[in-house]
Amino acid sequence: MTDHICMKCGKRLMSDEIALHRKLFGRGAQEFMCLDCQAEYLRVDRLQLERVIEMYHKSGTCVLFAKWE
Ligand SMILES: [Zn+2]
Repeated sequence: MTDHICMKCGKRLMSDEIALHRKLFGRGAQEFMCLDCQAEYLRVDRLQLERVIEMYHKSGTCVLFAKWE
């Protein structure tokens, strides 16, 4: 995957952060935010977003997230 940086704070992004951004803000997104900025934008705890990521990984229902064994 090519390097992406957070469009708000400039931090380098993990693929999970990009996947979650696509999930929450639409798959056509070209710019992404890190977990911290997504949490701030959505006014939720970063921990809640981490739980969402974990849930998608475990369920394997979303193609954006690789399934965790
Ligand atoms: Zn950020």
